[in-house]
Amino acid sequence: MKQDTVLIIGGGVVGVCSAYFLAGRGRQVIIVDQGGICAGSSYGNSGLVVPSHAIPLAAPGVLTKGLGWLLDAESPFYIKPRLDLDLLSWLLRFSFAAREGPMRKAIPVLRDLGIATRALWDELARTDGLQFDYQQKGMMLLFRTRQGFAEGREEAHILREAGINLEVLDGDQIRHMEPTVRPEVVGGIHFLDDAHHNPASFVRGLAHIAEGLGVHIKTGTEVLGFETSDGRISTVRTTRGDFHPNEVVLAAGAWSPVVARDLRINVPIQAAKGYSLTFKRPEMCPTYPMLLSETRVAVTPMGPLLRFGGTLELAGIDLSINQRRVGAIRRGAGEYLFGTEGLELIELWRGLRPCTPDGVPIIGRSARVKNLIIAGGHATTGQSLGPITGKLVSQIVCGDAPAVALAALSPERFN
Ligand SMILES: Cc1cc2nc3c(=O)[nH]c(=O)nc-3n(C[C@H](O)[C@H](O)[C@H](O)COP(=O)(O)OP(=O)(O)OC[C@H]3O[C@@H](n4cnc5c(N)ncnc54)[C@H](O)[C@@H]3O)c2cc1C
Repeated sequence: MKQDTVLIIGGGVVGVCSAYFLAGRGRQVIIVDQGGICAGSSYGNSGLVVPSHAIPLAAPGVLTKGLGWLLDAESPFYIKPRLDLDLLSWLLRFSFAAREGPMRKAIPVLRDLGIATRALWDELARTDGLQFDYQQKGMMLLFRTRQGFAEGREEAHILREAGINLEVLDGDQIRHMEPTVRPEVVGGIHFLDDAHHNPASFVRGLAHIAEGLGVHIKTGTEVLGFETSDGRISTVRTTRGDFHPNEVVLAAGAWSPVVARDLRINVPIQAAKGYSLTFKRPEMCPTYPMLLSETRVAVTPMGPLLRFGGTLELAGIDLSINQRRVGAIRRGAGEYLFGTEGLELIELWRGLRPCTPDGVPIIGRSARVKNLIIAGGHATTGQSLGPITGKLVSQIVCGDAPAVALAALSPERFN
């Protein structure tokens, strides 16, 4: 193995984008994944590219709303009650972050990541041989209740101040643009710089291009642990033998804390399960991607497919399927849109979003283990932020000036 080899743990959007940009800088790269490329959350997500999502998950009011939903078996948000010290400490940190001050501090960080990633998406969409049904039509956030719409306009005001491009529209203006929207929808916000795509086509396509640039992809290869010397990883132990890379990138999504445990590093990421339902594109198909505010359902037209995504369940590493919540996603779409009955289901899927307690991803070098870079915890926006994360990882490894300031993303902020 060459001295400048980088081993990436995880073949999701973060791992594959990191490999692509590192290979572009001439590094020897190996990706190992316990499953295959796109085996985790990057496969069946809603494919929204959302520079508009500059308000973190940890925002004022989220916990109160979440607690109100706890006893509802069909609610879009759920915390599985359990005695788990990591979860308790995560919830404490989350409640601290979900205040006006920390939220205002996170907005410019997420905005800068969003703007930078959108530029990279446009660049990647022009890459020869990479097709992923990328469309740049913006994204609509819809409201069925007057109160929801009023709160949405308040958020729109904060986002506009932060420089996010948006238009507030009434119900008729929305229906004029998107005739599948029901008359009950009272208004919405059109985020003009958002985009959408098919996530699995993107990640697999980019992995293929990265292989062409010399990246080695080892599937079915689970990382079991590490050996360290002088504060550096000397050996990565896997189910398919040992590796001795110069640098290691931890991009294992919701599994990152489990992998990091052997290094005695605290990576405060909780898994938040979500589901998606993918249908054959119906004749009457929405043309815009949409987020349905009150039911928290995302609707994405994806080339020959139509996808509904939703639910956020803090239930640990648990991939079981709760049919009541799946049913609620389908009904939740029907409350806003015509044409959601009789759809031909192609796939029901679930994935684990990797969530940090402050709603800001972790991208940076570990202080304790010098040749370890942690990249993860992007929660609901990991697909969107995959390209800028990969770019930043390559800049950290190569010692280049970062495209976005790294201080607020540091893994050390939790220590
Ligand atoms: C229903 C749903 C809808 C979503 N919609 C959107 C959206 O519209 N836009 C958006 O931006 N984001 C969305 N997300 C979030 C997004 O999917 C995630 O943030 C993103 O995919 C995380 O990427 P990742 O590369 O960090 O992790 P993953 O894609 O989960 O990849 C981690 C990889 O690590 C591997 N791994 C784990 N442990 C080991 C080990 N020990 N050894 C080797 N390999 C290991 C896994 O097999 C996996 O392939 C959605 C998520 C869900 C669930």
